[in-house]
Amino acid sequence: MKRITYAEKIKLSNYTTIKVGGSAEYFAEPNNIFEFIDLIKWANFNKNECRIIGAGSNLLINNIFLKGLTICTKKMKSIKIDPVLGNVEVDSGVMLPTLSNLLAKNGLEGGEWTIGIPGTIGGAICMNAGSGNLSLEKNLISVRVIDSRTLDIYEIPKKEINFRYRFSPFQENNLVIISSKLKFKTNGNVDELLKTTKNILKKKTSTQPYHLPSFGSVFINPKNNYAGKLIEEIGLKGFKIGGAQISSMHANFIVNHSSAKSNEILELITVIQQKVLQKKGIFLQPEVRMIGFDYP
Ligand SMILES: Cc1cc2nc3c(=O)[nH]c(=O)nc-3n(C[C@H](O)[C@H](O)[C@H](O)COP(=O)(O)OP(=O)(O)OC[C@H]3O[C@@H](n4cnc5c(N)ncnc54)[C@H](O)[C@@H]3O)c2cc1C
Repeated sequence: MKRITYAEKIKLSNYTTIKVGGSAEYFAEPNNIFEFIDLIKWANFNKNECRIIGAGSNLLINNIFLKGLTICTKKMKSIKIDPVLGNVEVDSGVMLPTLSNLLAKNGLEGGEWTIGIPGTIGGAICMNAGSGNLSLEKNLISVRVIDSRTLDIYEIPKKEINFRYRFSPFQENNLVIISSKLKFKTNGNVDELLKTTKNILKKKTSTQPYHLPSFGSVFINPKNNYAGKLIEEIGLKGFKIGGAQISSMHANFIVNHSSAKSNEILELITVIQQKVLQKKGIFLQPEVRMIGFDYP
């Protein structure tokens, strides 16, 4: 095996958008998929737990020492676009806003909505990230994965992946997404696409608290309802626990308004769940992924 580069005792708060998180025993940011695969093999051979993070935009990481190797994919940025056929091949660390802009510049339609999501492709596929009725699932052709237990590498066509609203099997299995193939509609008007992309971003930033650290929507919307609306209706907008606050701009966002601790955020999540259940009879399921907690 090739030489592995990693750092030790790295603060993960610098790698999450909510700016909270403990420290990783080992931490690495591979520059390409070959380094990525070698790191996963290294963790496997050394019996180190291996956790993957993208842009950390949907993560609540406990403020503890996390044993094992944490790999951040953000430096794996290779992207190949065929504007004639509409085919796109991306490494899992490519950011959605980068993809959105490149698609528009190449006249490819269908990825405009991804502009406001500050996550990577790998994270977006794992979360089945989306906006309204749209999600990456729609444009996905296949994903290339490595099984972190067996180290087998293979490609999975979309039809074999059981996506649901904000769910993919990658949230539960041992498969790490290395890269993916997507397809978009060709021959779009570049100026129109860039304008739409810009307008979508403008709308998002004027209705959601992009100016403060957060992890986007905290809860999955319940069937035929909106988590933000339920939280607002029971009067919790602006409610704080320590440095964690329910955004006064959008009630389904928790913002880190002053050095919030991970336990304050988890407590706020629990209070919201309890109060919405008591007053509305609805259990809100977190969308945000938790690392280092005993949360079910
Ligand atoms: C301001 C803001 C706005 C947001 N708006 C939206 C929105 O409109 N719609 C929406 O759906 N989400 C939204 N989000 C949430 C978040 O951006 C998405 O869920 C995003 O896709 C997560 O990607 P990430 O790279 O940050 O993943 P991370 O948060 O780093 O990880 C999320 C999960 O994916 C897993 N993962 C990451 N990379 C891989 C990989 N290569 N292989 C396997 N598993 C992997 C991680 O282990 C973890 O379980 C928003 C977040 C913020 C902060």
